[in-house]
Amino acid sequence: MGAEQKPVPVATDEDRPYWEAVKEHKFVLHHCRTCGLYSSQPRIVCPKCHGEDFEWKAPSGRGKIHSYTIIYQTFTSGFEEDIPYIICHAAIDEEPTCYITANLLGVPEEDFDKLTIDLPVVIDFEDRPNGSTVPQWRLAK
Ligand SMILES: [Zn+2]
Repeated sequence: MGAEQKPVPVATDEDRPYWEAVKEHKFVLHHCRTCGLYSSQPRIVCPKCHGEDFEWKAPSGRGKIHSYTIIYQTFTSGFEEDIPYIICHAAIDEEPTCYITANLLGVPEEDFDKLTIDLPVVIDFEDRPNGSTVPQWRLAK
């Protein structure tokens, strides 16, 4: 029996523009045209200004680590060979209340103890063997 595949994101009508952009290695978020709030999920009403006029817009792709966890044991199929790996919850630079949770790639295990909150990160894209593409964080250089 071969290695399990990682889950494949399934777009809904509401978040399809997000996943279509990710497939092209572009990072877009739901953005309120009235007040400029970025959201990590599609909204019907803006929680800040109560506006209802949204667009999909590309923020800088930069953020800062808000929290993270290092995974040494997983029950999630497809991630067994990645252990240990890091799940990073980071706020985008444009909106400190807009968090994107993704894996933090490219950090060697010997550097795990150098991770701290507020370290700058950038969005990158991981093309997986199962044909899916997902946004992931990397430490900013
Ligand atoms: Zn708004």
